[in-house]
Amino acid sequence: MAESLAVELARQMIRMPTTNPPGYEGELAEHLERVMADAGLATRLYPLSPKRASVVGTLAGAGSRPPFAMVGHIDTVTPGQMPWSFDPFAADIVAGRLRGRGASDMKGGTAAMVAAACTIARSEVRLDGDLIVACTAGEEVDCVGAIDLLRQGVFAGASAMLIPEPTDLAVWHVEKGALWLEILMRGKTAHGSMAEEGHNAVGQTLAFLERLVAFPFQQRYHPVLGTPSVSLGTISGGIKVNVVPDRCEARVDVRTLPGEDHDRIVAEAQRYAEEVSPPQVPAPQVSALADRPAVESDREDPFVIAALEAVRAATGREPALGGASYFSDAAVLIPELEIPMVLCGPGRPDLAHQPDEYVEAVRVEEAEEAYVALIRRMLEVADGAGADPAGRSGPAGHADRSS
Ligand SMILES: [Zn+2]
Repeated sequence: MAESLAVELARQMIRMPTTNPPGYEGELAEHLERVMADAGLATRLYPLSPKRASVVGTLAGAGSRPPFAMVGHIDTVTPGQMPWSFDPFAADIVAGRLRGRGASDMKGGTAAMVAAACTIARSEVRLDGDLIVACTAGEEVDCVGAIDLLRQGVFAGASAMLIPEPTDLAVWHVEKGALWLEILMRGKTAHGSMAEEGHNAVGQTLAFLERLVAFPFQQRYHPVLGTPSVSLGTISGGIKVNVVPDRCEARVDVRTLPGEDHDRIVAEAQRYAEEVSPPQVPAPQVSALADRPAVESDREDPFVIAALEAVRAATGREPALGGASYFSDAAVLIPELEIPMVLCGPGRPDLAHQPDEYVEAVRVEEAEEAYVALIRRMLEVADGAGADPAGRSGPAGHADRSS
């Protein structure tokens, strides 16, 4: 059987390493630009630096519906320290599994997204509004590509956003927020045999962390996401066993639920740090290294329903609703755009950032089909509806509440 465009494209993408840092997504962005331009999309490269770029393809519609945006990142994490049992950049297919770094997170998903847009462009389907296909650089570190596209107005007026992050084709309508705190605790050094003469910065930090892990969140439970979390990532302080440390640094990963006020957490953490510090030492400092709010779309939103219907039409299976404990480009885009979003991609979420990453090739093909169905639901000219092979045409939001 001939390989589908989605799978072929996913293999090409895996063979062009974009491990971030440093990313170097430029060559891959140019490749995707050619693929989309060949299919008839208007394309534009958005360079970030000489070797880095995002790329956007647009398929113009007649104009009476607002644009629909799809956003997939094109960088990956590194293969990591753990040995792989195969070459992470060979992109071979063994027993139906397309293997390599980024197969699940999320070159498989981004390839399906681009392939779906190309399929629509080459078909008879007529669109009523613009289809925007954004391939972003930099998501794995700081979302720099998505922030750049947002500032350049790429998503202006969009009605909804699909992000093909790995969900195993479940429809995830909510993601947790992330707040990464850095704590610098100050003490006063002394000889270890005269510890009472000093103020121990490591001890103060431990007292601080004990309070922080019991933080009284305002949002304590979410039916999809569960509970917020506080995880101590790094701690370092002290130089010698017999010296009272006068400095300790820690980094803490806080994951939050929708509606939590991150500024309040930072302010409270600063207060905790001050309360465990004696007045004789320099003031401690708490700062946010990363601050991404949780984002959520109503599970009854017509776009969420349309995504569920599209996956059902493409796979014949009932898609699960769910949410992400990690953050994605949605965290920088959705609070600004204030539009509904879903994460829905062919990758397996449990394989993201793991050694021996793969994606089921058939899942990538199903994703492409689901995206074609969703694009049609969101944008197709209504009088062209008779051509829907799944026979489920109708205005976006036509709700089958059986889900
Ligand atoms: Zn990802």
